[in-house]
Amino acid sequence: MPRYDFRCRACGATFELRRPMAQANDPAVCPQGHQDTVKLLSTVAVTGAASAGGAPQQAPSAGGGGGGCCGGGCCG
Ligand SMILES: [Zn+2]
Repeated sequence: MPRYDFRCRACGATFELRRPMAQANDPAVCPQGHQDTVKLLSTVAVTGAASAGGAPQQAPSAGGGGGGCCGGGCCG
C-alpha cells in the first residue's frame, strides 16, 4: 500500500498515511485533529519506471598533449 505524506497547515506538522491509491486524494486529518492538510508530493513507493537520472558528466580530457617536452632536452 503506498504511503503518502501530508502536511498540516494548522500546526505545520508532517505526517504519513498509508492508504489505497483510490483514496490518495481524500482529505487527511492531522494527528492533532486538524483537517487543513495538504498532500505532499512523494517519490516513495514508486515501482516500475524508476529512472534516477544523473546530471550528464563530461569525462575530463586526458593528458595534456604528447611529446614536445622532456623528450628533446627542453626541461632538463
Ligand atoms: Zn495539525
